[in-house]
Amino acid sequence: MAPTIRYAGVFAAGALLLTSGCAALSDDSGSAGSDSGKVQVAAAFYPLEFVAERVGGDLVDVTGLTKPGVEPHDLELSINQTAALQSADVILSEHGFQPAVDDAIEQNVKGAVVDVEKTVDLRPAEEGGDEHGAEEHEEEAASGEDEHDHGEFDPHFWHDPALMADYADAVSAALAKADPDNAETYAANAKALTEDLTKLDEEFKTGLAQCTIKEVVVSHDAFTYLDKYGLEFEPIAGLTPDAEPNPAQLAAIGEHAKEHGVTTIFSERLVSPALADTLAGDLGLKTAVLDPIEGLSADTEGEDYLSLMRQNLDALKAANGCQ
Ligand SMILES: [Zn+2]
Repeated sequence: MAPTIRYAGVFAAGALLLTSGCAALSDDSGSAGSDSGKVQVAAAFYPLEFVAERVGGDLVDVTGLTKPGVEPHDLELSINQTAALQSADVILSEHGFQPAVDDAIEQNVKGAVVDVEKTVDLRPAEEGGDEHGAEEHEEEAASGEDEHDHGEFDPHFWHDPALMADYADAVSAALAKADPDNAETYAANAKALTEDLTKLDEEFKTGLAQCTIKEVVVSHDAFTYLDKYGLEFEPIAGLTPDAEPNPAQLAAIGEHAKEHGVTTIFSERLVSPALADTLAGDLGLKTAVLDPIEGLSADTEGEDYLSLMRQNLDALKAANGCQ
């Protein structure tokens, strides 16, 4: 590794060890030693962190900026996290998904940014099956609540394993550039991850090929990338969990659910299930969790991206009567 990169790595490891304010540069935590010589990677939220760990393996120190239990859409960065991000050798982020991360990157970063928006073929937000999206935006604008730009794309790409594989290739290339001596290892790791993702993609294709019910009612509009497997997703909230429907929209979703024989209203772990519970209660339907996999939580500590995707597949098969 080039000396300049090594120096940046040392700086980042120091920043990671900060635990409170200016009590700063004590480096007694024992983890990610300041002289580890590893490539320092900052990953904005969990699926990107997963890719970083799989592709980087032992050669990198990964800092996840969205801590377990935090809903990543409205992440706020601490001073230490901002320092870790700005001093990292490689930064994994998705422009338009987390405004706080976008802002920190725009201010100043040392490392290479691997932006999902630039490396993955994202689908436009409008095509998300989010039928009340436009109306919501008008209301938000009118009430002055539209404080962040959701971007023009649907950010939830990680539900398509094929797109995760594309991102893994981009991460592999960035790590190889930061640490050319280990380029082959990064490429081999990305290839192994791609094999796992291809297998997952096949499981979804087979598992959802024959379902008696095609419609799925979900908590927020995070699952549209799964419609490549033939299901249709109707979100209760919008592209962000806090874009809540009004009573008329909720009633319309209820009608839609009844009309299509939906059995289950899905909620998620990192936001309140209140709306999903209310809707399910009103309609006499079941509730179950479909995890947007935007972050881990206490409930999912031992899980990873692949196992959570498989849990989602099982939940969808059960709810939609798939053979
Ligand atoms: Zn989301």
